[in-house]
Amino acid sequence: MAGYKCARCKQKVEIDLNVRCPYCGHRILFKERGAGIKHLKAR
Ligand SMILES: [Zn+2]
Repeated sequence: MAGYKCARCKQKVEIDLNVRCPYCGHRILFKERGAGIKHLKAR
């Protein structure tokens, strides 16, 4: 599991199976640590 941050509401999100912000439903999350920004799109 990795720490991600929602691109829209900036909430910290823990991704498990669904790559989706549980707070606002946004599907683009920034990886909190590691190099660069990764766009993850579910579906
Ligand atoms: Zn969000």
